[in-house]
Amino acid sequence: MNVRSTRGGAEVPLSAAIASGQAPDGGLYLPPPVPPHAGPWGEGLPAHAAAVLRPWFAGDVLAPQLDAIVRESFTFSAPVRWLDDATGLLELFHGPTAAFKDFGARFLAACLQRLTPADERRTVLVATSGDTGAAVAAAFWRRPRCRVVVLYPDGRVSPRQAHQLAAFGDNVTTCRVAGSFDDCQALVKRAFADAHLTARHGLVSANSISLGRLLPQAAYHAHAALAVAARGRSPAHIVVPTGNLGNAFACLLAREAGAPIGDVVLATNRNRVLPDFLRTGHYAPTASLATLANAMDVGAPSNLERLRARWAEPAEAVTADWVDDDAIRATIRATATTYGAFVCPHTACGLAVLQRRRRAGARGTWLVAATAHPAKFETVVEPLVGQPVPVPPPLAELLARPAHAEPLAADLGALRQRLDRLAD
Ligand SMILES: *Cc1c(COP(=O)(O)O)cnc(C)c1O
Repeated sequence: MNVRSTRGGAEVPLSAAIASGQAPDGGLYLPPPVPPHAGPWGEGLPAHAAAVLRPWFAGDVLAPQLDAIVRESFTFSAPVRWLDDATGLLELFHGPTAAFKDFGARFLAACLQRLTPADERRTVLVATSGDTGAAVAAAFWRRPRCRVVVLYPDGRVSPRQAHQLAAFGDNVTTCRVAGSFDDCQALVKRAFADAHLTARHGLVSANSISLGRLLPQAAYHAHAALAVAARGRSPAHIVVPTGNLGNAFACLLAREAGAPIGDVVLATNRNRVLPDFLRTGHYAPTASLATLANAMDVGAPSNLERLRARWAEPAEAVTADWVDDDAIRATIRATATTYGAFVCPHTACGLAVLQRRRRAGARGTWLVAATAHPAKFETVVEPLVGQPVPVPPPLAELLARPAHAEPLAADLGALRQRLDRLAD
């Protein structure tokens, strides 16, 4: 299928949109509506992924390779852990870097590798405040024709995050930038604005607005809803902890594509711009506030432009609520004592919002997207649950590797020099 920017413009093939990331007019490429899948869905996550994604890839150069791309990307599971009869955690953290971003990053990498001719090289340039950079590095690690340069703010990510980001090597270069996350992002933006630099290094973006990351996230929402249906409990209502609205937008796409999903509820931390927008219709982006659920500390959600372009009345498609740090702490504690389950601060936002909905009368079967493994946020979780959180094997493997990050000035000249050295 062809896609078009949220701001209009010409249609481009889906794979061109995946290769370029952002639309040239500054908008976001919007996947067009597809007819609901009539079934059968097949068995297992890769089959469900292919069923959900096939209509968008119809007619595209990547269409014949979709099954292979899906098999290569969905190599770990997305199981539902039932806390009680009507409440499940959709565990999205079984990938190499223990957060849901592994799914999108791997799918994007599998697409980009196929879209790069044998005699060309691409360099994925990514600024990260933590989770994204590690997922992207892991996804592109040792892939032919692709290089990754990760920029993170030195001293402003957790020790475990810093280790993860720097544990790759080979075709992954990790730079600790003297500056803030905003400085890293500004540096990446300036690099992409430099046409010569972009062409010379085949720079591509892997940020969360990329369709190559967004679309595959619809797969696990569909997969989980089908698991609920198999228990005879359809539809599945889903709470999605949200920052930039990528994961949650994909959940809406899964519902539209025919997955048996009922209500979709966004859960945010004190960065409440989405709940306020959906309640009042008035969008008021702000600077972000620091919270315990720091991967959701977003004051101007990038995918909101997609939501508004796609649904004339967004509040009819989705509702939202927010919680503060005290509620996050209380929920992490209560989930451990009541169910013996450890959850990360982002997942806790989702559970807290669900609890409020239930008190207000919500019925039925609910899933909460568990966006990261609690061991990634051990400095928050462990003091609350009073014991160590076991590290999952893929993450343990990464943390056991040697780490190497290079210092880099927050300066385009320094970045250009570093890129040139890679190309030599
Ligand atoms: C990125 C992230 C989120 C927010 O996801 P969006 O797609 O930006 O809404 C939530 N939780 C964790 C753990 C994340 O890494």
